[in-house]
Amino acid sequence: MSEYPDEFDTHTGNWKHSKLLDQCIGEKSKIKLLILDVDGVLTDGTKVYTQEHQPVYKRFRCKDFTAIKRFIAAGVKVIMLSGDNWNSEMARQRNIPFYCTRGSDLGLDKSVYLKHLEAQYNVKRENMAFVGDDYFDLSMFKTLFWTFAPSDSPRIIRQNCLYLLKSKGGQGVVQELYDFLVGKGIVENATEEAVAELDKKEASSAAMK
Ligand SMILES: [Mg+2]
Repeated sequence: MSEYPDEFDTHTGNWKHSKLLDQCIGEKSKIKLLILDVDGVLTDGTKVYTQEHQPVYKRFRCKDFTAIKRFIAAGVKVIMLSGDNWNSEMARQRNIPFYCTRGSDLGLDKSVYLKHLEAQYNVKRENMAFVGDDYFDLSMFKTLFWTFAPSDSPRIIRQNCLYLLKSKGGQGVVQELYDFLVGKGIVENATEEAVAELDKKEASSAAMK
């Protein structure tokens, strides 16, 4: 995303790339792969640790998981790209492919995964969307067009996202994104039947409600 937004929102005090976004209205199927950061997007970024520094507690919103199903039912593949491998079990329970960006041979730059994702999902970069909230996500914001951020992201992320969401991290970010993209005609609205079918396939469906 360019660093030159075209509109200043006096309510939020942030710049928006609204004209650019409006040019894409109605161009359905433009987004084929939605890449979600987890901490600070699906959660508010809070982690509760044991004394041994093992994270034990995070808070997620059911509405966001439903919104993920609605994206998938609408034909948008959804994956998670996170620096915290703690999230992998959550993703597995939800049938969402998970990629951990940190390891002994891995750096913090999430955009190095794009080449791999292009091949794995047969999706070009211009058809990928990303939601992230923190400084280490910046390369994704600078590389991809469809980029979104929670409203409590740092200034540099707010300046580089295509569209700044009103929700803070952990407060319905994915739900708002789904409603926004469907409202703009960029993503098709999923049918209730298709969403319900996905819900049935979720390994933890009964246990987590
Ligand atoms: Mg994050």
